[in-house]
Amino acid sequence: MQSDARSGATNLIKGASGDWEVVIGLEVHAQVASKSKLFSAAATEFGGEPNTHVSLVDAAMPGMLPVINEACVAQAVRTGLGLNAQVNLVSVFDRKNYFYPDLPQGYQISQYKRPIVGEGVVEIDADPGSGSGAGGERLEVGIERLHLEQDAGKSLHDQHPEYSYVDLNRAGVALMEIVSKPDLRSARQAQAYVSKLRTILRYLGTCEGDMEKGNLRADVNVSVRKPGGKLGTRCEIKNVNSIRFIGQAIEAEARRQIDIIEDGGTVEQETRLFDSARGVTRSMRSKEEAHDYRYFPDPDLLPLELTQEYVAALRKDLPELPDAKKARFVRDYKLSPYDAGVLVAERESAEYFEAVAKGRDGKTAANWVVNELFGRLNKEGLEVEASPVSTRQLGAILDLIASGAISGKIAKEVFEIVWKEGGEPADIVEKRGLEQVTDTGAIEKAIDTVIAANPGKVADAKANPKALGWFVGQVMKSTGGKANPQAVNELLKKKLSLA
Ligand code: ADP
Ligand code: MG
Repeated sequence: MQSDARSGATNLIKGASGDWEVVIGLEVHAQVASKSKLFSAAATEFGGEPNTHVSLVDAAMPGMLPVINEACVAQAVRTGLGLNAQVNLVSVFDRKNYFYPDLPQGYQISQYKRPIVGEGVVEIDADPGSGSGAGGERLEVGIERLHLEQDAGKSLHDQHPEYSYVDLNRAGVALMEIVSKPDLRSARQAQAYVSKLRTILRYLGTCEGDMEKGNLRADVNVSVRKPGGKLGTRCEIKNVNSIRFIGQAIEAEARRQIDIIEDGGTVEQETRLFDSARGVTRSMRSKEEAHDYRYFPDPDLLPLELTQEYVAALRKDLPELPDAKKARFVRDYKLSPYDAGVLVAERESAEYFEAVAKGRDGKTAANWVVNELFGRLNKEGLEVEASPVSTRQLGAILDLIASGAISGKIAKEVFEIVWKEGGEPADIVEKRGLEQVTDTGAIEKAIDTVIAANPGKVADAKANPKALGWFVGQVMKSTGGKANPQAVNELLKKKLSLA
């Protein structure tokens, strides 16, 4: 265990009475990527007219019986395996009873004492965002459990002055609740954990991880304590739906709890909401008002039993996951952990990189993908799948650099032309006469012209060899950036008798 990283001085918060440590555990709700719902054949499709994806089971018509969707079970097992977790061969579905208009059954089918997945682990940077973090110390965040449950419908309050409406399209959609241990020690670690979890789910294809669509959201549990002391009373902040808000909610809540304790009060265990407009958390319900859900095993469903073979077959088909991919990129392509980390954050960008790097210099490929391509994509707000420059085109540009046909500087111009107009990089270079000038005669001619026009500068350069750079710049300019910079340097030194 890396207890040093957890209680590391960098994570402490200053209070009037000295340093405080914040302790965080997350309950993440991830919508299972599946065509139909957990216990019915209705579609899970996002959007759609209200109440158009509702089966009789979802509407809880009398006599309807739930039938488990095997695809959702497989997704939960695959996720468990991706989280290095224990898959339980027997798990049980329970009824969690409560009344709400968007829950026609009067209970949610969930898993309580016997979830489908038990303990696991997710690795993150212990000091995320520090720059050195990508190659620095790791933190193992414990997973307590993962269970399957139904989502509820949605109440619509703004459509009518007197009535509320209910949309049951989401009712019965499968969710995975992924509960972490209280192993996180800062807002940044919690954010890194959720990003990492999202990346893993997206690699596995078990959840789209689109927080804006609400298919990944988190309940954030926060407490504070004196470093090394016993755990404090926690508050749970419900339904935080962006990584930025998770960070802000934790910071606001930790500060609130520290202020209460330092004023001589005690923190009450309660459920709170984050008000993103005001940047504060506010009380939703206290422990006394907590629900008694009267959990009991759903008599309509048998215990879910899996075989070893079933789990083994799913394990065999798992894709390479981000940590393994990152390690392989560092090892095989000699990338820095930082570049490798950026490339594996999305499966699509890792695949783009590998298509370009195959048979070429890995470091150069990474440089171009991370700096030029991602820089340009970010500027336009595009995903890598929508890149106007294909892997083949970028590869062709790198080949032109490697063969000495164009300089790195001209390559950026070619990249820009391909981005805007498309086309074959080699054709573009030929048609526009962008080949690098390595012909010494042509370069010498350009140098002579610059020297003849600037006698004063020649004297400067002789007295101070650092002034040479100015000449290099002029020659490059007069050749439209096409001269081979190394050749220009050498010839200039000779001509100015500096060599
Ligand atoms: P519940 O089911 O009532 O929400 P759990 O024991 O399942 O309670 O815990 C829920 C979450 O709270 C877990 O993610 C856990 O890591 C976190 N947690 C538990 N104790 C603390 C604490 N003292 N401070 C912060 N988080 C905590
Ligand atoms: Mg909870």
